[in-house]
Amino acid sequence: MYEIFADLHVHIGRAENGKPIKITAAKTLNFANIAKECAERKGIQVVGIIDCASPYVIEDIEKFLQNGDAYELKDGGIIYKDKVCILLGSEVETSEEGRNGKKGSAHNICFFPYLKNIKEFSKEMSKHIKNITLSTQRSDLSGYDLIDIVEKYDGILIPAHIFTPFKSYYGNCTDRIENIFKEKFDKIFAVELGLSSDTFLADAIKELENKTFVTNSDAHSLPKIAREYNKMLVEDISFKEIVKALKNEDGRKIIANYGLDPKLGKYHRTYCDNCNNTIETKEPVSICPLCGSSNVTFGVFDRIELIKDKADTISPENRPPYIYQVPLGFIPGVGGKTIEKLLNNFETEMNILHKLSKDDIEALVGEKIANAIESARTGNCKVHSGGGGNYGKIE
Ligand SMILES: [Zn+2]
Ligand SMILES: [Zn+2]
Repeated sequence: MYEIFADLHVHIGRAENGKPIKITAAKTLNFANIAKECAERKGIQVVGIIDCASPYVIEDIEKFLQNGDAYELKDGGIIYKDKVCILLGSEVETSEEGRNGKKGSAHNICFFPYLKNIKEFSKEMSKHIKNITLSTQRSDLSGYDLIDIVEKYDGILIPAHIFTPFKSYYGNCTDRIENIFKEKFDKIFAVELGLSSDTFLADAIKELENKTFVTNSDAHSLPKIAREYNKMLVEDISFKEIVKALKNEDGRKIIANYGLDPKLGKYHRTYCDNCNNTIETKEPVSICPLCGSSNVTFGVFDRIELIKDKADTISPENRPPYIYQVPLGFIPGVGGKTIEKLLNNFETEMNILHKLSKDDIEALVGEKIANAIESARTGNCKVHSGGGGNYGKIE
């Protein structure tokens, strides 16, 4: 067995024919470029691309498989240049009953072993989604029904960024995910934490105790791939091995989650949409203490405070460590040119953030930047919480 890095939530901006897939994502974010970026710059061995049910992306995948650098694995997944295993996924928005009689919606990332599976899934989902060519469109299904369709095509379902305010199970649907999946709740073996939470926060909720936590980037551009990722122990890279790791089977497992300090996430604390301030009160509030407005976007930290059901946050024994990672782009004083220079010399961001000595970095970019990277690596920096869609900031 050996250790690998996996980021299971990467979007596609445009298909190669120029058609938009995720409108808010970068134009350069297409299937082939993601494979290349992971192999050459990020040092990621497994990447989950979650816009593969779009018929335009399916065309791109078919082309990608024809050019000789990539092929489908017997155990599922596409292997590129023998370096990166691509998992074919689809992010689906479900329709749920929300809090206080409002409409709720939640995101789910679903993965399938083979192209033929996701093609069939795409066909069936086009009956439930208005525009199947676009990313993460709202379906008329509940998670309760979606999981059956996913399993029909040999797929797995992971509730995505489970605490974010507008599009997640805890965010705007329910206090307990079991209420959604009912007797099928055991079929959910992993949940995605999202940028504004971490293991410590999530382990305040009992029903998550035997679920695996995954930390993914939700990247909307190439540089943001692997902003969060999982270190896994596997025998090989394939769909089958990753599923085993997520299920904690046969010694395969996640051995560490790497993610942002949740304070850096876009929805960590409640945000007042009236006076545009992040509300950092000790207890969660639903009325802005600064202007009195109730027009607030609830934060992930605040939501967990309200719904948690464990007196003390104690993680189960087999919970892997959550390691705070500050991506290069978040470090003050480290601009695009410096990042380019670092990557040209040290190849991957993974090397720079986790492997190289400070001396090596200093020799290339000078003491000031090396110090900034070092304090970000060791967590010795002050962070202002994000909220309302704005990232937190490092001082
Ligand atoms: Zn999403
Ligand atoms: Zn306010």
